[in-house]
Amino acid sequence: MEISIHDFPEAHLRALANTGVRGAVMRATQTFNQAREERYAELPDVEALKAYAATVKDHTLEHLDYYLGRLADNIESRGGHVHFALDGADANQIILAITQAANAKLIVKSKSMVTEEIELNHALETAGMKVIESDLGEYILQLEGEHPSHIIGPAIHKPKTEVDELFHKLYDVPLGSSADVLAGKAREIIRQDFLNADVGISGVNFAVAESGSIVIVENEGNARLTTSRPRVHIAVMGLEKVIPNIHDLGVFLKLLPRAATGQRSTVFVSLISGPKTDLEVDGPEEFHVVVLDNGRSSVLADIEMRASLRCIRCGACLNTCPVYQQLGGHAYGWVYSGPIGSVLDPGLLGLSEAKSLPFASSLCGACGDVCPVKIPLPQMLVTQRTRAVSGGLMPVAETLGIKAFKNLMKNPALYKLSSKLGRFVKWGKTMPNLGIAPLSSWQATRDFPAPNQKSFRDLWNEGLNTEAAPKLEKPEASDD
Ligand code: SF4
Repeated sequence: MEISIHDFPEAHLRALANTGVRGAVMRATQTFNQAREERYAELPDVEALKAYAATVKDHTLEHLDYYLGRLADNIESRGGHVHFALDGADANQIILAITQAANAKLIVKSKSMVTEEIELNHALETAGMKVIESDLGEYILQLEGEHPSHIIGPAIHKPKTEVDELFHKLYDVPLGSSADVLAGKAREIIRQDFLNADVGISGVNFAVAESGSIVIVENEGNARLTTSRPRVHIAVMGLEKVIPNIHDLGVFLKLLPRAATGQRSTVFVSLISGPKTDLEVDGPEEFHVVVLDNGRSSVLADIEMRASLRCIRCGACLNTCPVYQQLGGHAYGWVYSGPIGSVLDPGLLGLSEAKSLPFASSLCGACGDVCPVKIPLPQMLVTQRTRAVSGGLMPVAETLGIKAFKNLMKNPALYKLSSKLGRFVKWGKTMPNLGIAPLSSWQATRDFPAPNQKSFRDLWNEGLNTEAAPKLEKPEASDD
């Protein structure tokens, strides 16, 4: 079932009811979290390293035109081609033109969230090309017709039993086979695609302006095959992926794998600086880099939200978020989920499109604590909420309900009266759901205990805390 970003208020309820997905996501995120904390703890001063990485990102964003220009010049000086795309349609058109010029029939891809963002597969398939996702998780999802639910672990929401059944049905792999057997089968099939593909399309983790190199980190080796075997390589990156120099790359290569999977280093780190030269045996004859804006310039111009462009897509904020842990990524309805999605999606798509997402947080602060580039995610969530409310984007019933609650809390006499009324009605153990927003959606998945027959004020005044506590004074009514 396709979920749109508008569906979050209903989609999150369906996600909560899916215990299989919840279990799979919880297990995977807890494993990531434990490994991340262990690897972070090995660094002598992880907070200083994070702060340095944040400074590098901020500096680059402040001088983005300079660094993107330098990156493009250096790539082109080695025979590569750089294309700047304003939006998804523009990027897809550029990529289609390259693939059609290469007379491509078969395309292999390595994992890339930015190509999910622009729905590139759909554009290529509509033009008659066959596209194969070569990352194992993405491959499984492609077979199922699903989208990734996590930035680095696209299929973490899938219990292994479902993958067993899929491979049994499609490839006759015995049910209950080990993960190695399943991966071996996928490898056997995808290897042929690598050999036959005309074009390889990859994402980009970092782009080094100084050397004109794109950097890809991965564990499966599929990105290396995608970028080296086909005759044409197209790398697609968001414009925020550029960093100044190789020295800074070292810092990010220390932080990214630790934050993402709790590894000291990923198995493969590829630096690609152009097409194959006359002296090289491997590599593509053509090398293209597509630099995508697609709303990022607006985020850059928004001083309160700009820091979200520091994101290196490690997924740590998703893993640690109690909301993401319960829902998985699909409920958010777009490519980027979890806390960074709740901040970035409104920035890229417009707040009116993604107005529910900033509220998908308990504001516990864990996302901000784990972020390797110190993005102040909790503050940004609050800012987006404030904008949604002041912009009149929230449902009228919810706005009126909150206003009524605010007035109640500001007026001691009214508060006392309402709490007396609440106790007067015999509710039983829990309050029934009366369908009054916003309480009703909260009550849909939780019990609201009925009020105690004695209020805290009554208990206090009866002297439960007799020794130290003074009698409560009647507070002055306040206007603010
Ligand atoms: S916001 Fe921070 S923690 Fe979340 S994915 Fe981006 S870099 Fe990682």
